[in-house]
Amino acid sequence: MQNFDLHVHTTFSDGADTPETVVLRAIEFGLSRIGISDHSFVKGAEEWCMREDALPAYRKEITRLKEKYLGQIEVLCGIEQDILSKTPADGFDYVIGSVHFIKEKNTLIPVDESADILQDAAAGYFGDDIYALCSSYYALEAEAALRTNADIIGHFDLISKFNENNALFDESDPRYVSAWQGAALQLLQSGVPFEINFGAVSRGYRTLPYPSAEMRRFILDNGGRFILSSDSHAAGTIGYGFEGWKETGGCVGFEGVLKHSH
Ligand SMILES: [Zn+2]
Ligand SMILES: [Zn+2]
Repeated sequence: MQNFDLHVHTTFSDGADTPETVVLRAIEFGLSRIGISDHSFVKGAEEWCMREDALPAYRKEITRLKEKYLGQIEVLCGIEQDILSKTPADGFDYVIGSVHFIKEKNTLIPVDESADILQDAAAGYFGDDIYALCSSYYALEAEAALRTNADIIGHFDLISKFNENNALFDESDPRYVSAWQGAALQLLQSGVPFEINFGAVSRGYRTLPYPSAEMRRFILDNGGRFILSSDSHAAGTIGYGFEGWKETGGCVGFEGVLKHSH
């Protein structure tokens, strides 16, 4: 089983538990490393991201935990940097580069909040063409590694959160396929690993992790690499999905993650 989890949210953003509760749970779960990766500040998304002025306290608390639990577990201070964040992701142990919104006519459209929001956005901004909305998402996703200086590519196909059984769009539609393949090829050039992300599974939105099996195959065939992430929003789901995951092709260890020194 992968013995580290680098995608965990705490009370510094939209997680339910404090960083210390998370660290204690990670020790109990038997991990050798735990990374806290709260959401970077995005103006207009204050209800779930970190407060703009909270970064010093965040760093201080994670540093305290690093020292306190030295010898029991390695604690890392990461950030889940949204591509639309204006605050630079500097000085962290690692960065997860993620797209949670598309921006149309100066309006932020969250892609992971509800199926209704996606359908309304397709109607309101894309001439009722959901594939045009998906293309807009993947055009932004394509830049996620470069623009956030990411070490890890977060939930590549988050746009499919509410699309199990093709509920909103057909994932085999050529327009959808060409949009995600274009983004994947661009991201592959960065050499940064893609997450296999269980966040929507642990919270009951999906039965399978991101990215889809077709995407994982494509990424692997094109030389891509993966790490497992729980994307936990509560201590109880740290390492969620790791034990049962048998598809280890392309999965890299911790050393394969950190290509940058921040
Ligand atoms: Zn995310
Ligand atoms: Zn997350």
